[in-house]
Amino acid sequence: MLNKSAHIELSIVIPTCNEEGNILPMYERLTTVMNEIHVSNFEFVFVDDGSSDQSLSNIQELRAKDSRVKFIQLSRNFGHQNALKAGLDHAQGAAVISMDADLQHPPELIPTLFEKWKTGYEVVYTIRKDDQKVPFLKKWTSKGFYRLTNKLAEIPIEEGTADFRLLDRKVVDSLKQYSESHLFLRGIIPSLGFKQIGIPYTPHARVSGQTKYSFSKMLNFALTGITSSSAKPLYFSIYTGLFFALLAFLYGLYAIYLAAFTSEAITGWTSIIASILFIGGIQLIMIGILGIYLGKLFIQSKNRPLYLITEKELD
Ligand code: UDP
Ligand code: MG
Repeated sequence: MLNKSAHIELSIVIPTCNEEGNILPMYERLTTVMNEIHVSNFEFVFVDDGSSDQSLSNIQELRAKDSRVKFIQLSRNFGHQNALKAGLDHAQGAAVISMDADLQHPPELIPTLFEKWKTGYEVVYTIRKDDQKVPFLKKWTSKGFYRLTNKLAEIPIEEGTADFRLLDRKVVDSLKQYSESHLFLRGIIPSLGFKQIGIPYTPHARVSGQTKYSFSKMLNFALTGITSSSAKPLYFSIYTGLFFALLAFLYGLYAIYLAAFTSEAITGWTSIIASILFIGGIQLIMIGILGIYLGKLFIQSKNRPLYLITEKELD
């Protein structure tokens, strides 16, 4: 049976949240690139993730002129990862590329991704090589994030990989089985297997608008990333507990020694308060870690959909 998706060779999935100034430049750069490669049929799938600006009407204007522009409008903001999942679930291409709407992921890399796919790779991911244009804080936090996740995650995530990659139809279909809440594609994709290859690139500056990832959002993203690809943080409490129990035991021995063999005794209100606060802080952190996992279980157990759609035009 011939299915419709067989006709489309390449889909470009673009999660979009308040990117009104970027839609048209994005479309223009993408079409230029598409004309350069030998792709039989392609589509651009914009996923409007609850934009409050003119993003959606800009997309609809493009669609009126070019039916290869398609869109899914989510009922509200569901977050980048869920918007991306919505796009992947609805893209019809034999190969699907996901990229940001702000042109930080250069469309000019598409021919390279496409060529690699043609030679048989099923996942062609990109590796961001940072340069001076990336703000210091972002660079530093992203470095720290990859270090930490790689230490903790069972499947290491390569530094600088983002949601700019090509996936073969087989991989996209496999991903449909992943309906977990707190989706973290960067952690899932390396664990899928298939024939993978990484391509380095230099990111561009945002063309227009502002990043939606504030520092606190990035911290949240990092915590989600770590706790969704690994259960190792749960072991922390045992090791820190053991460490402090040992410390307390040694200190006890020392106190006994002082009392038995010297005329001194241990005094000190400050040290008691300091250690109570210290241990109390550590306990709270450990409870917090437990809480994160428990919260995830709670949300997952409700099995709610990852996104809701108001309208879609995908023909
Ligand atoms: N995005 C989205 N939903 C959100 C936040 C962001 O769909 O809630 C989109 C955004 O429009 C962009 C991509 O996800 O296309 C990456 O976002 P951003 O550029 O703000 O992240 P950064 O590049 O700074 O990490
Ligand atoms: Mg960006």
